[in-house]
Amino acid sequence: MTFIDIVLRRPSYGWQDESGNLVKPSPGQLFKEFFKRLNIVHDKRNWLSFMSWAKVLCMVPFLALFIFKFFSWPLLLAAFVYSMFVMGTHGTIWHHRYCTHRAYKFRNGFWQFVTQNLTVSMIPEEIYVVSHHVHHAKSDQPGDPYNAQGGFLYCFLADVNHQPIASNLDEGQYGRVKTLMKHTGVQANTYQQYLTWGSYQHPARAIFAWIANWAFWYGVFFLAGGHALACTLFGAAGFWAVGVRTFNYEGHGKGENRQRDGVDYNDKDQSINQLWPGIVAGEWHNNHHLFPRSARSGFKPHQVDLAWYYIKFMSMLGAVSSYQDSKRDFYERYERPHRAARSNQLP
Ligand SMILES: [Zn+2]
Ligand SMILES: [Zn+2]
Repeated sequence: MTFIDIVLRRPSYGWQDESGNLVKPSPGQLFKEFFKRLNIVHDKRNWLSFMSWAKVLCMVPFLALFIFKFFSWPLLLAAFVYSMFVMGTHGTIWHHRYCTHRAYKFRNGFWQFVTQNLTVSMIPEEIYVVSHHVHHAKSDQPGDPYNAQGGFLYCFLADVNHQPIASNLDEGQYGRVKTLMKHTGVQANTYQQYLTWGSYQHPARAIFAWIANWAFWYGVFFLAGGHALACTLFGAAGFWAVGVRTFNYEGHGKGENRQRDGVDYNDKDQSINQLWPGIVAGEWHNNHHLFPRSARSGFKPHQVDLAWYYIKFMSMLGAVSSYQDSKRDFYERYERPHRAARSNQLP
């Protein structure tokens, strides 16, 4: 068993059967696991998943106020832009490219903090980061925390059922989790605190950061457009947090091979480039699996990548000190050979 096999908390139905095939739990099993792992009375080490979904629930009243009290077409447009483009792109910039893949470096902690808090905070870093390393190591294999072959619910409930870190790591293994998370600026639990809380982050610090972030953004939105705008954008953030949980299923072809010739060059897994997640969040997912450490995933002219524009802009400001850009490699190793092969086939 390697570290990557044991770092995530194993679901009660397991990852694979005795023959090494993916276990595909029924919807009943998935929901049972989901509610068991949200139960903080039964086990307080479930606190982080509980907090993550509590944040979503807290957004429901804001969304309801937007729809039933403040609704207007300009506000709907604001909600659309905020939930799709702003929240989506921020997830790529922060959780995905920086926290997980270290595709770029900040000049200092100030710019890192600004980037971390660029939007209303919804997804805890450790839930995303550690499990995403496992996703890359085991894409579409048993153990992949959001294996699309497990079905929609398998992926949709993954942040509770499959993504939290294991609660029985030894001190050395927990040390490796700390190594994966250290550069994010999220402060680590001691090993003793980890044993108590089952997490990398301490709940007191997580709750403080949550309240401070939400208070700041509610204040900013309120000053800009009163309770109407603040409720709209908070509701939009909640809407995004639910919607983003569908991405991992879609981004790997809904469990089927949907890769296209000349579009998806990485055939080691079933990831696909899709127009909408690409445009709103820079998630050209097949490109990303080809070059996971690249700060840019949109390589072709039509592959808009707002996350990359932000990173590049921050680099021009001096806030980002270095980044990786795999565009040239992409053309040399995949796009040009493909085009050459295709033109040779022509009569
Ligand atoms: Zn993927
Ligand atoms: Zn990734």
